[in-house]
Amino acid sequence: MKRLLSFVLAASLAAPLVAFAEEVVVYSSRKEHLIKPLFERFTAETGVKVTYLTDKAGPLIQRLVAEGRRTPADMLITVDAGNLWQAAQKGVLAKTESDVLNTNVPAELRDPGGQWYGLSKRARTIVYSTERVKPEEIVSYEDLADAKWKGRLCLRTSKKVYNQSLVATLIARHGDDKAEEIVRGWVDNLAVAPFSNDTKTMEGVLAGQCDLGVVNTYYFGRLQKKDPAIKLALAWPNQETSGVHINVSGAGITKHAKHPEAARKLLEWLSSETAQGDFAGLNMEYPVNPRVAPTELVKSWGDFKGDSLNVSEAGRLQADSIKLMDRAGYR
Ligand code: FE
Repeated sequence: MKRLLSFVLAASLAAPLVAFAEEVVVYSSRKEHLIKPLFERFTAETGVKVTYLTDKAGPLIQRLVAEGRRTPADMLITVDAGNLWQAAQKGVLAKTESDVLNTNVPAELRDPGGQWYGLSKRARTIVYSTERVKPEEIVSYEDLADAKWKGRLCLRTSKKVYNQSLVATLIARHGDDKAEEIVRGWVDNLAVAPFSNDTKTMEGVLAGQCDLGVVNTYYFGRLQKKDPAIKLALAWPNQETSGVHINVSGAGITKHAKHPEAARKLLEWLSSETAQGDFAGLNMEYPVNPRVAPTELVKSWGDFKGDSLNVSEAGRLQADSIKLMDRAGYR
């Protein structure tokens, strides 16, 4: 599939573009089925053609670095503020000034330097067995280090940026030493070695290997869609303190964009009331635009207070977070 998309991109770039007055070329680590329907609507509404290539975040950012001025890409779409921050650090994004974006995307969900903007919000929260845990027992991320959870906790690997971002916020809030103590407590409480992904983490809970874990809500949504009677539920930790850990998928316009105005038009459109329902809804995430409601299924998980820390902190503290998890023995 990746090869096919590369081919489609290469072919369309080589072909003379007569049918469209404007175009935007997007590199996206957000999966094709989540962006294609949006791009099609954008083209239908504006006449601007969108060409895209999908790959993982790391290779796409590397590609932008390697291509430099020659890049065909006008926009990078990726998930996790840690990745967006990395792209900005590597100098492949440009500052975009836009009143539309500043209105549609809350300040804590975009780069303070204007190089990227969150487009969907994801909550990384606690999932638990409805057979073995009572929701009122779940207090906070910090409390997952408590001995009461010994042998009952499942986690995904620390190699995943989602956990690096979560631990980065613990560092931002508590400092290095306290954050390390918390992560050590998590490791002490692990029932089994960390899983490779969030879905396997939940399957571990379902199989009785452990009683609770930490996942992004949309992965829970996928399992719940398959089995509405699933014996798992989401809890909202830190409601008395920092709030649930919030991250984003988002986008920035590239430094060497050939179509910066069309790219800005697309970015603004993706943040608009027209597009936000689908952009978030197709992946069971939360819209960033406060005027747009999440889907009914997402709403059914309940309201919660989210962390108001700027998501760029996940990037700023990413290296510290990786080192801390290594010291704490979180693999
Ligand atoms: Fe994900």
